[in-house]
Amino acid sequence: MNDFEYRDGVLHAENVSVADLAQRYGTPCYIYSRAGLTRQFRAFDEALSGIDHRVCFAVKANSNLAVLQVLARLGAGFDIVSGGELQRVLRAGGDPAKVVFSGVGKTRAEMQLALEAGIDCFNVESSFELHQLNEVAQRMGVRAPIALRVNPDVDPKTHPYISTGLKKNKFGVAIAEAESLYLEAATMAGIRIKGVASHIGSQLLDIAPLLDALDRVLALVDRLAARGIGLVHIDCGGGLGVRYKDEVAPDPADWAAAVKDRLRGRALRVITEPGRAISGNAGVLVTRVLGLKGGQSKAFAVVDAAMNDLLRPTLYQAWMEIVPVTPRSDVPACNVDVVGPVCETGDWLGQDRLLALKPGDLLAVRTAGAYGFVMASNYNTRARPVELLVDGDHVHVARARESFDDLIRGENLLP
Ligand SMILES: *Cc1c(COP(=O)(O)O)cnc(C)c1O
Repeated sequence: MNDFEYRDGVLHAENVSVADLAQRYGTPCYIYSRAGLTRQFRAFDEALSGIDHRVCFAVKANSNLAVLQVLARLGAGFDIVSGGELQRVLRAGGDPAKVVFSGVGKTRAEMQLALEAGIDCFNVESSFELHQLNEVAQRMGVRAPIALRVNPDVDPKTHPYISTGLKKNKFGVAIAEAESLYLEAATMAGIRIKGVASHIGSQLLDIAPLLDALDRVLALVDRLAARGIGLVHIDCGGGLGVRYKDEVAPDPADWAAAVKDRLRGRALRVITEPGRAISGNAGVLVTRVLGLKGGQSKAFAVVDAAMNDLLRPTLYQAWMEIVPVTPRSDVPACNVDVVGPVCETGDWLGQDRLLALKPGDLLAVRTAGAYGFVMASNYNTRARPVELLVDGDHVHVARARESFDDLIRGENLLP
C-alpha cells in the first residue's frame, strides 16, 4: 500500500496532484502523506495490542514538527538521540513520559534537559555515561531512569554503515559486561534501573537477527533477576526495513507475533523504536529536470535536487526509485544518471535509470520520508527544500523553503 499513486496519468499524493504541488510550491520539494504515517504507526501499535507496549518513533528518521505532531496525536512515544530532538518532541505535543533517549554521546546539558522534562528512560551506552548521568541526577536531587543498551553481537546483515549490533561497532555495552554494570548501577543514588535496550541495525529485511538479539537479551534479563535486579521493560530497538526496489519488507505483525510469543508469561513492557518503517514510504522528494546532456559514454539528467537535499544515494550507495510525475511516451526512454547541481562527482540521486524525459519534466524519488530531509544540508549555499504534509485533499506547509536570509543567519561580516 502506497499513498503516492498515479491517477489519470499524474502522480498523486493522496488526493492531490504532485504536478500541481510542484507548480505551486516549487522544487525540490518533500511531500509527506498523513495517511501513510498513520497507517504505518498503527501497523506497529495494533500488532502489539494485547500486551503492554509502546511504539516510540525514531525522531532522527524524520523530525519535522508536523510529522511528529501527527504521530503524537496517535499516542506515539519517541526515541530521541539529542536534546534538540527532545525539544522538537515537546514542541510537537509529544508526551515526555513516553520518550526514550538513545545515543552514544549525551552531554551533561542534554542529560539535565531530559531529566527536567521527565523522560521515560535513558538508554545508557557506556560506563562513563552511567557515571556522568548519576552525577547530573544527584546534583538535581533526582534519580535518572535507565536501561543499558546492550550489544548482543548479532549480525543484522545490512549495510555496514547502518549495522550497529556487532562487537566492532561503537554502540552499546557488550552483553557480557552488562551484568556487572547493572550491579554497579544498582548501587548508584542517582540511578533507577528500569529496563534493557538493544538496537542492532537498520533496513533489516529478515527478522531472525532481531529475534536472536531478543533471545540473548532475555537471557540477560533472567540472569539479572537471579541477582535481584528486576526490569520493567525491554526495548527492542528499531530497524525493520522497507521496500525501496524489490525488497520484501518484513511485516511488523510477524515481528510482533514472534515477540509476543517470546514474552509470554513475563511482566515486561515492550518498547519498539521504528523510524524508517513508519515514515520511509510516507514521503517523496520531487525534483525538476533542468536539462539533459550526453557525456562520452553516459547520458545525464541534471535535476534541481542534489546530494545536499537527499544524501542516502551517495552516502550508502542506496538505490531509491525515481519515477516521472507525468509519464510520457512521445520521446524514447534512455539510460541516464540522475544528477544534481552540486560540485561533487558523488552528487547523484540515481544511476543507469531508464527514463523518457524532456527538460522541465518532474521526477519523484520514492521512499524519501525517512533519512531524507533530516540529512539535508546547505552545502553549496543551497536552501533546503520546502516540506509539505498532504492529508486527503489538504496541503499543509510543514516547513517553508529556506530563504537566502535563513542561510546566512548568524553570520557576521567584519566591522
Ligand atoms: C536509528 C535508530 C532507530 C531507528 O532505526 P530505523 O531503522 O529507522 O527503524 C531506533 N533506535 C535507535 C537506537 C537508533 O539509533
